[in-house]
Amino acid sequence: MRKIVHVDMDAFYASVEQRDDPGLRGKPVVVAWRRARSVVCAASYEARRFGVRSAMPALRAERLCPQAVFVPPDFPRYRAASKRVREILLRHTDLVEPLSLDEAFLDVTENKLSLPTATAVAAAIREQIRDELQLTASAGIAPNKFLAKIASDWRKPDGQFVIRPHQVEAFLAPLPVERISGVGKVTAARLHALEIQTVGDLRALEMKLLEQHFGRYGRRLFELARGIDERAVMPDQPTQSVSAEDTFEQDLPLEALEPAIRRLAEKTWNGARKTSRIGRTVVLKLKTSDFRIITRSLTPLSPPDSSQALADIAVALRERVSLGAATRYRLAGVGLSHFEEPPLAAAQPSLFALTPD
Ligand SMILES: [Mg+2]
Repeated sequence: MRKIVHVDMDAFYASVEQRDDPGLRGKPVVVAWRRARSVVCAASYEARRFGVRSAMPALRAERLCPQAVFVPPDFPRYRAASKRVREILLRHTDLVEPLSLDEAFLDVTENKLSLPTATAVAAAIREQIRDELQLTASAGIAPNKFLAKIASDWRKPDGQFVIRPHQVEAFLAPLPVERISGVGKVTAARLHALEIQTVGDLRALEMKLLEQHFGRYGRRLFELARGIDERAVMPDQPTQSVSAEDTFEQDLPLEALEPAIRRLAEKTWNGARKTSRIGRTVVLKLKTSDFRIITRSLTPLSPPDSSQALADIAVALRERVSLGAATRYRLAGVGLSHFEEPPLAAAQPSLFALTPD
């Protein structure tokens, strides 16, 4: 039986801003660029009281909370803080798997300081983060990654929650299916159509039926509904790719995809900025109404250096799709792959060139 801890920093970027500028403490702080179509990168708990959430359009955040202080993101500073958090985590185990700048899984089945329980390890980590970095973190403690990640949300901010093996079934049963990782709007809607609202409801469905409806993911749903997740904590996996995709309400023709592609490019760009490395290859993925998957990719001479540049390339990649005007698309995705360490020299002007790939 594993002992997994999920550590999640509280409102990380906003908290770093409030820590470094005392004038921001106690105020609603929204970390976002102030541009049309920008999204919120982080919101302080004061701003969340007004309904502001990360990933919502910045303009909407402004409407919900006009008195909020908007701060442009400063990723080098967030990365530096994240590195200090990582150093604290590594005092307890080498099995640390970062998910982004502000969260990580740890396998503390054996821990370096020989603390008696995973709960004690989580408490020690949170205390060290508070004392040394003047930031707060929440933690979830459970027998696997899936449950630990749900648990870290349970006593947020600045709290921790443990799910013990004998509590798993009872803990999961009343949760809405939306809490299961991988269940987005579309899957949730399909489960609701099957009269499945909670994880407990989901447990009533046989694996065969789930596979019929959801393919390979059906098996995963079957397992997660029972709190089964065998994934090991993988220390220090360098990012291979970052992507975002979306299934449309209605199938769309190719020429109508630009707004969706631009939105997805911004999501992907924000995701990619959370790693310290640079994605060289831009990938456009499309799924047709008859479920054919098409991908087109481009590796420019210099990697895209902004959300806009990424979006422009992804939009242009449509020109390399030639399926006929009658084709309709049910899904689009934008990805970055081939991540590399950034060069030491300053960023170069972006020059695109087609490479055969
Ligand atoms: Mg967080």
